[in-house]
Amino acid sequence: MDLLTGLEPDRVFYFFEAVSDIPRGSGQTEGVRDFLVRFSEERGLEAVTDDAGNVLIRKAASEGYEASPAVILQAHMDMVCVKTPESDHDFTKDALDLFVEGDMLYANGTTLGADDGIGMAMILAVLDDDSLAHPPIEALFTNDEEIGLLGAAGFDASVFKGRRMINLDSETEGELTCGCAGGETIFCVLPVEKIRMKGLPVVITISGLKGGHSGAEIHCWRANANKLAARLLNEIQSVAAYSLESISGGEKDNAIPTEARIRLVIDEEDYQPIVKAVESFEKSVRREFRGIDDGIRVKLERGTVHKVDVLSMDSQDKVFGLLLCLPNGIFNMSGTTPGMVQTSCNLGVVRTGETEFVCTIGARSSVLSGRSALELQIRALAEMFGAAVRTESAYPAWEFRENSALRDTMSSVYEEMYGKAPAIVTIHAGLECGLFTSAVRGLDAVSMGCTVLNIHTPAEKLSISSTARTWDYLKQVLASLK
Ligand SMILES: [Zn+2]
Repeated sequence: MDLLTGLEPDRVFYFFEAVSDIPRGSGQTEGVRDFLVRFSEERGLEAVTDDAGNVLIRKAASEGYEASPAVILQAHMDMVCVKTPESDHDFTKDALDLFVEGDMLYANGTTLGADDGIGMAMILAVLDDDSLAHPPIEALFTNDEEIGLLGAAGFDASVFKGRRMINLDSETEGELTCGCAGGETIFCVLPVEKIRMKGLPVVITISGLKGGHSGAEIHCWRANANKLAARLLNEIQSVAAYSLESISGGEKDNAIPTEARIRLVIDEEDYQPIVKAVESFEKSVRREFRGIDDGIRVKLERGTVHKVDVLSMDSQDKVFGLLLCLPNGIFNMSGTTPGMVQTSCNLGVVRTGETEFVCTIGARSSVLSGRSALELQIRALAEMFGAAVRTESAYPAWEFRENSALRDTMSSVYEEMYGKAPAIVTIHAGLECGLFTSAVRGLDAVSMGCTVLNIHTPAEKLSISSTARTWDYLKQVLASLK
């Protein structure tokens, strides 16, 4: 504690440091939940913890606001835990090692967790300060947002008294987010058979891709390592016969895959033609993605002849066909919001197991029927190759409201303070607001936040001056919500 003493706004940074001292990776949020309960007890506030691990804290209106309807403030309590290869940070027990450089706050070697620790800190500072003007407050701290909005999905929203919600999980000052895409994870599971054969094993690695977030960066048209793997197999097929042992690539359905690995068994005499095919493939995809994905590398390593379990010819053909044909990327763009992706998918993970080949796809759309159409296409295609399809973790879109009193108030406060209108945006990534607005009829929600860059990476950084302005803005908004 005390690393941030002297930073303004001091109470916001005090609470930011307090939550940064508590390990709170997704799936291990008990510590921060205990902190929230203790915080409430110390201040005589009502706090309720539910089965999904969320904490709801209520605070009465300040003087003069007793008759005003409640306002909900919401942030998520978990953070993404990523560190540099050199870091020996232990996310299960260590406090984050915060440090300041210029206007930026970082954590040494790790994610900073300003997503969404700074949202939590602002809400705690509101609950803590009895000199602020505000309506009755319902402060909801949700659990495990980063691993599928689990807390928000498990929350009983009928307990809300308020019908206005300010979500503090956005990362760009000056923007009010008023809608987002819904999504789901689609699994295509293809049963496979293996046979034992003798030959020369080779491993081909496709790496160096930029990757990125499948919601926020799908419009950048970056290469997808899994799709490149299918195309590379096609190139190899044109020069030599091979047996496929496995293909694997990607880590998460919502991350554009940066690496894929193909294991083949070939005849010794086909090695040189395959080397040539791999080299020419590398050259052509580097040319194709020039200016977008300049780091693509395709590397081939040879083993020594021995017996290996490979896919049967029939399984190999199906794996290749399915991977080649599955859609990936933007499906269509919004007709009403220029430049916004409406429906997309990301072929995020492929794995070859002993008995099945599994493709995991993250699908998103701001329109439910758009996502259904995409799912239908994937289902029909997968079934043609003999794969079964199941879906998981679906969450609804947060639809843009034509009329939003909350958005109007927040826009005019912003304009009064800064002399210009805030940007009103809808995003292709997911926010918990979709779950709440679907669950509560008439819930008017807006998402805001201060500037945080490079989230979900060890380079995550928070602008201190932006935090100060955003805190002033939030206080002014609360005072204006009569
Ligand atoms: Zn977040």
